[in-house]
Amino acid sequence: MRTAQRIANLPPYLFAEIDRKKAIKVAQGIDVISLGIGDPDQPTPERIVSVAQSAVADPKNHQYPSYIGAKHYRDACSKWMKRRFDVEVDADTEVLALIGSKEGIAHIFLAFVDPGDVTLVPGCGYPVYHTGGIMCGGESYFMPMTEENGFLADFESTPADVLARAKMMFLSYPNNPTSAVANEEYFDRAIAFAKEHDLLIVHDNAYSEIGMDGYHAPSFLERPGAKDVAIELFSCSKAYNMTGWRVAFAAGNTEAINALGTVKSNIDSGIFTAVQDAGIEAFLGEQEAELAALNALYQRRRDLVLNALGKIGIQVPMMPKATIYVWAKVPDGYTSASFAEMVLEKANVIVAAGSAYGPSGEGYIRISLTTPDDRLEAAIARIEQFL
Ligand SMILES: *Cc1c(COP(=O)(O)O)cnc(C)c1O
Repeated sequence: MRTAQRIANLPPYLFAEIDRKKAIKVAQGIDVISLGIGDPDQPTPERIVSVAQSAVADPKNHQYPSYIGAKHYRDACSKWMKRRFDVEVDADTEVLALIGSKEGIAHIFLAFVDPGDVTLVPGCGYPVYHTGGIMCGGESYFMPMTEENGFLADFESTPADVLARAKMMFLSYPNNPTSAVANEEYFDRAIAFAKEHDLLIVHDNAYSEIGMDGYHAPSFLERPGAKDVAIELFSCSKAYNMTGWRVAFAAGNTEAINALGTVKSNIDSGIFTAVQDAGIEAFLGEQEAELAALNALYQRRRDLVLNALGKIGIQVPMMPKATIYVWAKVPDGYTSASFAEMVLEKANVIVAAGSAYGPSGEGYIRISLTTPDDRLEAAIARIEQFL
């Protein structure tokens, strides 16, 4: 049996060493607390679960779903974009249902990237921006993200020979893993840059609803001309604690939406229609108080973590205003990986090494706020005690 070269071309799994050490500790009966994974611990709101329960029982949902998403789901996505951001997207030509945004990220490469093509990828970001390209024989160019540039990916410094081969650029704000947010001026520069160099921008807005201290993230599509060059991805996963349900959508440029839809219609057969009904309830149901409570929870956990890190002298470059992560600098003398290994060794706590998210992540760790309060407090106490 001979597997394809694309499998061998994938980067090594960067958490492998941590996973191995964790397994040894767990086998010894040691209680290891993970602050590594960004997967909301709170349940999906009851209003959404109950809509899904009746939808599952309805025989009209038992046949193949629509490839592009049910008309009523696409209408709901369009209505939410209008209500939430005052952005108009046509439900028939500018919206496409996705089986989670990860699915859309992986498949957009098949629609835009031929072997040898370059994708401009954030210097640290969601790993599929890079691995999706590798699977298509493409190459990634990592745009520098630094504390000095506010972790806003620096596309303007891309060398001309790289740009000549580039077709697509990923951006994502509020950002995983750095928690950075972007302003209008940055988005406008990105749009001008994409027009000049004939690039598709994919703006991954997975954390659009997760804001702290009153911050509400904008949509990339609010900016003039955005639809000429961009699609934006939104998901129920983080906003409504629905990572297990697999429901999201892409909106924006018709040509890109069509191309992605063509790829998908040859690969998958859409989202279970009952889950789309749950997505409609998620986006359009009464949610103000629910989101306020969720964001207050993350804000409280963020402050707990920031306070503890301050006590042990670990610096946080920017106060997170959004997402579910705290991005912290490793102390002098450590790499991301060696510090994460030391925290596991001494405190039995797992944190994510920043380098796992790309070259700009070296020198940082990511702490996730999705651990239940008592476990998070226990982890913090251990870190304070042992470091
Ligand atoms: C969690 C996450 C995703 C994946 O979201 P799904 O809709 O669950 O596939 C995509 N992008 C970023 C930046 C994320 O953090």
